[in-house]
Amino acid sequence: MAPASDNDVIAAIATGQGRAGIGIVRVSGKNLSGLARELLGAAPGPRIATRATFRGAAGEAIDDGIALYFPAPGSYTGEDVIELQGHGGQVVLRMMLRRCVELGARLAEPGEFRRRAFLNDELDLAQAEGVADLIDAATEAAARSALRSMRGEFSGLVRGFAQRLVELRTLVEATLDFPEEEIDPLERDDALGRLSRLAEDLARALALGRQGSVLRNGLQVVLAGQPNVGKSSLLNRLAGEELAIVAEIPGTTRDAVRQTIQIEGVPMNIIDTAGLRDTDDAVEALGIARTWEAIGQADVLLLVVDARAGVTAADLAIANRLPQKLSRVTVFNKVDLSGDAPRAEEEPQGWRAYLSAKTGSGMDGLRKALLGLARWQAEAGDIFMARERHLVSLERVTASLRRAAHCAPRTELFAEELRLAQRELDSITGEVSADELLGEICARFCVGK
Ligand code: GDP
Repeated sequence: MAPASDNDVIAAIATGQGRAGIGIVRVSGKNLSGLARELLGAAPGPRIATRATFRGAAGEAIDDGIALYFPAPGSYTGEDVIELQGHGGQVVLRMMLRRCVELGARLAEPGEFRRRAFLNDELDLAQAEGVADLIDAATEAAARSALRSMRGEFSGLVRGFAQRLVELRTLVEATLDFPEEEIDPLERDDALGRLSRLAEDLARALALGRQGSVLRNGLQVVLAGQPNVGKSSLLNRLAGEELAIVAEIPGTTRDAVRQTIQIEGVPMNIIDTAGLRDTDDAVEALGIARTWEAIGQADVLLLVVDARAGVTAADLAIANRLPQKLSRVTVFNKVDLSGDAPRAEEEPQGWRAYLSAKTGSGMDGLRKALLGLARWQAEAGDIFMARERHLVSLERVTASLRRAAHCAPRTELFAEELRLAQRELDSITGEVSADELLGEICARFCVGK
């Protein structure tokens, strides 16, 4: 088989695997007019929904639907694109796909449409990641911030930083070229002042990015407590009606011990320790080992106790088995029976929330505690969907700027740090991206995206 090339015509079923009213086969390539004629009888007019019969090799009808033709460069991928909207059955869609392959297309690899959009400058890398994050978004807030990344808001921010670095570098490199100038241009043009303002703006972006990362990955919460203290009741109360609209966070599996809920749009993956018991069953043991692994990665321990008994030795024994780095919220449940006033307090050793899972009183305090621990401050409107890769880059840029400030009198070192910082920023949007980075990002998409 010939190796996959960016010059091939590619085709894929772009819609989901199930049964639906409509299903779409998408084709992209350098010149699709011939393929369109064979398949549809005539190439449809550009960007007009055209009713068509999709035909097989012998001229037989495969399906009746709508064809859309986007000639290059005004298309999703920047190449000619044809979208065939047929009926959403898997058999008929596969027949259409096979027909496209007979006509010279090959099956697209995962993320290949997006790869072409990137290669043809329709999108940068951060935008391409935004597409995948929008598709995978587990909550509405996550979807909204992924959309902003997809539409280029985050990239615009990063480019703005890069532009400011370019201006700074120009100043600095001028001093390197004209060392005999009387007034130090670094001082005259306030290079250090500019540097520190840039560092401040970067710090703000990094904070928003960290919030975005919480939106993307969720806060990992371990739920623990004695039987009958009200853990399930609390979970149900927290989840409320919102449970139904929380999708699964990619890469996690929903099983008996894990649930995803959301609080004000922030996904929380709750790992219930109730399932952690000694067992001889190999399958269960595997599940328990995985749960412990998840607990090792967790952020918060939600320790539920009966407000009438307070924290008992048995509760402490549970808490001591869990990683000590976990932030803690101790929930004193059943205040309707104990008579405690519903409230939430932050103390040095963690939050205490007094509430009743049964009546719902005090639940706001718990929500506040969890959002506080997620360091959730911003209005979701400002947040962009950051990936680990972006955060690492922004941190490296920050470190470079800090080093630059330290070595300011030594202009060559200062200039070199600025150059490194700019390269790092460019890697976010893919301006200097290595091909393997692109490959890795694209491969995480589903086929047809
Ligand atoms: P779990 O074993 O920790 O999951 O506890 P459950 O959620 O199953 O609750 C145990 C019992 O306590 C059930 O009968 C609940 O109805 C009751 N319960 C849970 N929370 C409250 C509460 O806040 N007030 C009162 N009065 N009863 C509660």
